[in-house]
Amino acid sequence: MLNFHFILNDDNKLILSSSSAPENKKSDSLKVNIIGDYMKGQRLKKNLTKLDVARKLGFKNISKTVINLTDIEENSKSFQGYNSSLIEIYSASDKDLKIAKLDQEQILLELKEKEKQEYKKLTNVKKDFYLSVIKNLPFLYSKYEEIMNTDKYYFCPAYDSYFGTAYISIGRFELYIGELLQLWKDNRWKNECPQCGGPVYITNAGGSPLSGAGGGWGTCEGCKTNIYGITPFRKFFHEIRELPRREIPEDLEFISFETMLADLEK
Ligand SMILES: [Zn+2]
Repeated sequence: MLNFHFILNDDNKLILSSSSAPENKKSDSLKVNIIGDYMKGQRLKKNLTKLDVARKLGFKNISKTVINLTDIEENSKSFQGYNSSLIEIYSASDKDLKIAKLDQEQILLELKEKEKQEYKKLTNVKKDFYLSVIKNLPFLYSKYEEIMNTDKYYFCPAYDSYFGTAYISIGRFELYIGELLQLWKDNRWKNECPQCGGPVYITNAGGSPLSGAGGGWGTCEGCKTNIYGITPFRKFFHEIRELPRREIPEDLEFISFETMLADLEK
């Protein structure tokens, strides 16, 4: 699963960034190395070590050349003055290298497109999760005391909800259903939708309390979309500071929102 974060760039603008959760690291680090594999294959066919090749290339700094060769073979990097000489040393085909280059570009394009689709899918999953929470709010508030007093309900994970701030530590990053319910109940972390005027339930906020740069984002009940860039950040910062932050009990077994609903309905 990918996690999305808003981070402040050098221009103090919020940009959306994603990182993968640990279980998905493998597919995320998927690397396209067609050129590198081709080059390595040619060298091995000739039975040459990288040191042999570095000597043949004739650059002054042999160890630097070996490092560059590794970068070419492992990361498909390209260095000026290498390719044509390598093709010669390997008696390889210039045409094959060009094909490898085209393949590499094509696959990178396809991966980028896939990533875009994946991102869209995940933002939809997030939106659907919060639309379901919002739809159930009257029921959840009818069980408010029970939720507040039961750890497994209070700490029911809220999909990718967090508060992130630079410089000032305000405890843990992620927010739970019990915390969002408290915030929303008092109309904190809520905003009027700039698109439809409906209520936006803020699920995330990030920024700098010092400069005030940053904002919040969440799901609109009216137009049923994710709304980004809600300001001012300082409002969300002060509102969450009023929220008592509880410690998560060590032996807590987390339950899903669906399970929580089903349990509460019993
Ligand atoms: Zn709206």
